Amino acid sequence: MRSCRDITALVSQGLDKKLSLGERLAIGLHVMMCSSCRNFQSQSQFIRRAAKGYIKNLHHQPDNKTET
Ligand SMILES: [Zn+2]
Repeated sequence: MRSCRDITALVSQGLDKKLSLGERLAIGLHVMMCSSCRNFQSQSQFIRRAAKGYIKNLHHQPDNKTET
């Protein structure tokens, strides 16, 4: 059984790189039993998605040069 510290570290790593099956299993098993890590995981994923969307918007800014 991995500690919460291990799991949150793995979750953070998983945002930037692909985790091994064993690592993903460890996270999955842990979050089934640990609500704080489950919250951490969903928050991290939410922030990650939000950040990705923000970066996407930065690159797709419409040209506001239509002055009359
Ligand atoms: Zn935990």
